[in-house]
Amino acid sequence: MIKVNENFLKMQDSYLFSTIAKKVAKYQKENPDKKIIKLGIGDVTRPIVPKVLEQMHEAVDEVGKSETFRGYGPEQGYEFLREAIVKNDYEKRGIKIDLDEVFVSDGAKCDCGNIVDLFGTNNKVAITDPVYPVYLDTNIMSGRTGKYDEKTGKYEGIIYLPCTAENNFVPELPKKVPDMIYLCFPNNPTGTVLKKEELAKWVKYAKENKSIILFDSAYEAFISEEDVPHSIYEIEGAKEVAIEFRSFSKTAGFTGIRCAYTVVPKELKGYTENGEEISLNKLWNRRQCTKFNGVSYITQKGAEAVYSEEGQKEIKENIKYYMENAKIIREGLDEAGIKYYGGINSPYVWLKVPNNMKSWDFFDLLLEKANVVGTPGVGFGPSGEGYFRLTAFGNRENTEEAMRRIKNTLQF
Ligand code: PLP
Repeated sequence: MIKVNENFLKMQDSYLFSTIAKKVAKYQKENPDKKIIKLGIGDVTRPIVPKVLEQMHEAVDEVGKSETFRGYGPEQGYEFLREAIVKNDYEKRGIKIDLDEVFVSDGAKCDCGNIVDLFGTNNKVAITDPVYPVYLDTNIMSGRTGKYDEKTGKYEGIIYLPCTAENNFVPELPKKVPDMIYLCFPNNPTGTVLKKEELAKWVKYAKENKSIILFDSAYEAFISEEDVPHSIYEIEGAKEVAIEFRSFSKTAGFTGIRCAYTVVPKELKGYTENGEEISLNKLWNRRQCTKFNGVSYITQKGAEAVYSEEGQKEIKENIKYYMENAKIIREGLDEAGIKYYGGINSPYVWLKVPNNMKSWDFFDLLLEKANVVGTPGVGFGPSGEGYFRLTAFGNRENTEEAMRRIKNTLQF
């Protein structure tokens, strides 16, 4: 008899985006003349920039000729891309990363999810709350949690690190020590960041406790302030305690093309039950070579072009465009007298729902009165209750119109 992985049965259905879609569809059906503006999803809208397209076109031509055809590439990624990553994302910031510490993949979501393969099921896991759901769900699936508690909205065995206005969205070092710590800054969904000295406290804590930090910096390209680290490796000693996940998705509009990378430093060690040190770089390499066959040559050529002078200029224009949307959202909320966070080093604005309303009640209000769709904060974790996420990834016209409508609706 075939047995299932019963850890899957502990998982709550992910109601968030399906509930949003159902509510929007119902409202639209009942009000066919209303134009609904969506500022809820985290997908980009600007097209791939010309320099990346040009290099991808060339790569397409190459694979069509017998002299330059490419089949399977290296599982870790082509050297030309890993060199560009090391040089541009790390050397330029004074960080030394070796080529064989970089693993190119088809997405940070997969990497964040797959990384749990390296760790024993008896590790204690800490996540920030609210959180990008992948970190939590992949640990439930692989058996690092107990049951879900309906009352608290939490899973047994997980260490939740609340990030709210009360602690200025800076998670406190937990008393009960986790083995695996997920940090994502700039943060999805709150749009907030950790300053260098705050991140340094986590690196020190991880070192003292032999924990690992799984650092997701998918949004680093949106950082505009000086003392906000783009990479955890800007902190001294972080190579001994951290894995870093990066993505071309939001940086260069690759959400549909698919390309990302993960850095696993050679200094980084895990331990056997007997206390023997094991290189996590070796384990990840083994895992990837076994279960992954690399990213397409055409995609990697496109990703390489992101680092060219023209590519950089072009992607920065798009980032500027999104961050101008973020400014429009922030200014609109200021005028409406709504408190908010984020939107300065990140494309996400996390607003405090007025009048002590619940996240979902605010969702209904905005949908029905302003015909604007956002994401209820509670969908990202219990500490998200009373908050609401707006994204800057829409187009300019819609963002402006949405903020006009929100202001009209919220001027109580
Ligand atoms: N990490 C965070 C925090 C994200 O918000 C997202 C996408 O929304 C990802 C990772 C996924 O990135 P990718 O498109 O590379 O899978």
